[in-house]
Amino acid sequence: MKDETKCLHSGYTPKNGDPGVMPIVQSTTYRFDSTEHIGALFDMPMECMYSRFANPTVDAVEKKIADLEGGVGAMCTTSGQAATLFSVLNLCNAGDSLICSSAVYGGTVNLFAVTLKRFGIECIFVDPEATEAEIDAAFKPNTRAVFGETLANPALIVCDIEKFARAAHAHGVPLIIDNTFATPVLCKPFAFGADIVVHSTTKYMDGHALQGGGVIVDSGNFDWTNGKFPEFTQPDESYHGVIYTKSFGKMAYIIKARMQLMRDFGAYPAAHSAFLLNIGLETLAVRMPRYVENGLRVAEYFQQSDKIESVTYPGLPGDKNHALAEKYLGGHGCGVVTLIIKGGKANAVKFMDSLQLACNEVHVADIRTCVLHPASETHRQLTDEQLLAAGIHPGMIRFSTGLENIDDILADIEQALAKIDG
Ligand SMILES: *Cc1c(COP(=O)(O)O)cnc(C)c1O
Repeated sequence: MKDETKCLHSGYTPKNGDPGVMPIVQSTTYRFDSTEHIGALFDMPMECMYSRFANPTVDAVEKKIADLEGGVGAMCTTSGQAATLFSVLNLCNAGDSLICSSAVYGGTVNLFAVTLKRFGIECIFVDPEATEAEIDAAFKPNTRAVFGETLANPALIVCDIEKFARAAHAHGVPLIIDNTFATPVLCKPFAFGADIVVHSTTKYMDGHALQGGGVIVDSGNFDWTNGKFPEFTQPDESYHGVIYTKSFGKMAYIIKARMQLMRDFGAYPAAHSAFLLNIGLETLAVRMPRYVENGLRVAEYFQQSDKIESVTYPGLPGDKNHALAEKYLGGHGCGVVTLIIKGGKANAVKFMDSLQLACNEVHVADIRTCVLHPASETHRQLTDEQLLAAGIHPGMIRFSTGLENIDDILADIEQALAKIDG
């Protein structure tokens, strides 16, 4: 099946007389005929037994996303941050390290550089343009994973997934890719060698700004028996001695994540959240091409304006990341355009406050056009000098193009730009 079809039909197959729409199974628990049956579930958790880590509605969404990414299994989480966290904790213990491209979401940088450090996990950041030899040099004997982001939020730098995958595999560790901005519609990282994919489903997947969520998807391709991952190949004492690779084969990673991390930490979405996410997923494959189309038009519009200093959008032929976008994203960007307005912070704020259609909000990849000014919002504690050092220009705006008619979006930009000095 192609993506449009998977979006509508994967995950839930109604049987004779079943509801045509995936039902909301609003129950924390499940009844079984015998103690023996429940006992067997502890050995082979293939049915739902408790909603802290499994629920039929969430399960259907997990299967749909796994199918869209081309993976063997998936696990939903209550946020994108939780998905990123669990994807790493499933591999790293205190005393281990991971390597991460520096072109990743700010929340990921904070999680890896500050919070995981408090728990004894070190993150070594490498430039996204680092050579394979430079990435190679960042490895230590305790490195357990490499992490990158297909289309970085908000820098819009495209990850050279094959390069990072080669470096990771040469050291016997998996590559995890945050595929939030691309979605499986624009890029399927497993086809380029990634082993694990994570998403903030809060963004394009949900698409309607209804609820936060995340997901981890397992390609099933990584060989956990290579000697570097004893937790996968030796008995898990917390789980009556199960050996993940032996009992679960290709699904070892994703089942370990569920049976260790979700069991112990419990960041599992409610059935109702999964139901809403599913509605977003049903139209994902028809929405993404329109984001791409509108995003490109907005990028082109900003590019020809004399009030704009620079535009970053990998879908533009002149963009620094266009060649990588051609390889990994079909030559496209998504709906998000990053621009620097002339006149710094004052003009950025004036432009943003003059927009009438585009919403000024702390969100991105929404169905409605929205804008964010990092210098006065997410990074407001920094001085202009500190902002520049952090790669954030005081005049930088993240413009997240929505699905309104492009003429209305451009008219809104035009009237707002007219209010600022050139
Ligand atoms: C928003 C975002 C996250 C974090 O997701 P939440 O759902 O907000 O927790 C992670 N990665 C990327 C690329 C994001 O845009």
